[in-house]
Amino acid sequence: MLKRRVHLVALALLVLSLAGAAPFVTPAAAQAQGSLPNIVVLATGGTIAGAAASDVQAGYTSGQVGVEQLLAAVPQAKKLANLKGEQISNIGSQDMNDEVWLKLAKRLSALAGQKDVDGIVITHGTDTIEETAYFLNLTVKTKKPIVLTAAMRPSTALSTDRPLNFYNAVAVAANKDAAGRGVLVVVNDWIHGASSLTKTSTTAVQTFLSPVRGLIGTVAYGESEFYRGPVGRNTFDSEFSIDGIGVMPRVDIIMAHENMDGALIQAAATSGAQGIVVAGVGNGNMTQAALETLAAQAKKGIVCVRSSRVATGSVGRKVEVDDDKYGFVASLEHNPQKSRVLLRLALTKTKDPKVIQRYFDEY
Ligand code: ASP
Repeated sequence: MLKRRVHLVALALLVLSLAGAAPFVTPAAAQAQGSLPNIVVLATGGTIAGAAASDVQAGYTSGQVGVEQLLAAVPQAKKLANLKGEQISNIGSQDMNDEVWLKLAKRLSALAGQKDVDGIVITHGTDTIEETAYFLNLTVKTKKPIVLTAAMRPSTALSTDRPLNFYNAVAVAANKDAAGRGVLVVVNDWIHGASSLTKTSTTAVQTFLSPVRGLIGTVAYGESEFYRGPVGRNTFDSEFSIDGIGVMPRVDIIMAHENMDGALIQAAATSGAQGIVVAGVGNGNMTQAALETLAAQAKKGIVCVRSSRVATGSVGRKVEVDDDKYGFVASLEHNPQKSRVLLRLALTKTKDPKVIQRYFDEY
């Protein structure tokens, strides 16, 4: 009976390989074959590198633990891949900035071009991981897996989510099936695409959702399952580049609310913003006063994007606001923070709202 089953399995494997299907190599099988992929871990800080004085306190400091300590703390990950660590920064991601972004994107591009690198894991804070992931998704030209991960509980906490998130991120980066799916974010067993994920809880471990388009896949104790590819053009297929860019254009986000006037929109323009994203109410709406101030900025050549403060859904063109008349861009599914990232890169190429609307359609 057992012999027959073994034969059936062997036959199934033979049929699969004859059909040209890519053989699925589990982490355990790769280890057994001695063919572990080479993964570089770029650490930037965040709660995943955070520490507190006790294991049951809410207060802690992000970015305390270095990459070597992180690697040493999750020895199980070394069974999935040959790991090398590099420290890019060690900051809470609330302090993420253009200098680190450009350094990270350049280092990633260099590593992705190396034959002896199969994938890259980036450890990051949860606060702005969606912005960094989307920025890298638009600027790093590669099909190799790039996987960001994070933790909601610091390394010292009771029940920290650090080790398993890191382990799963390494497993996804080591998986050939992750290639060509754009920049991914792996937290709490879920694999998100950079363009779709957003942080939804200030404290819960299950904070990230991809509310409009759903997940790219799942990963449980290193075993990944992929459901689909990424949404929108990305990485190898992106027309954006940071080559030769030292300073990124300034774009401000302003949140709409009841009784809004145009003062903050005006202030953004005065502060040198080349683009303004309004996190509008509902379908990217705002008071008439704010609308008129925004339209005046668009007329002066500041690119104005209508996004929404609402957690899910899309901001469509010309629903309640005549975007053609005012020269506005509608954010579609991009939330305000993703809209800002895309608009900043768009402004490195053009100020034409029609071209920029195309970017929002395609990316
Ligand atoms: N403030 C932290 C950060 O983004 C929060 C976290 O990582 O969960 O770095």
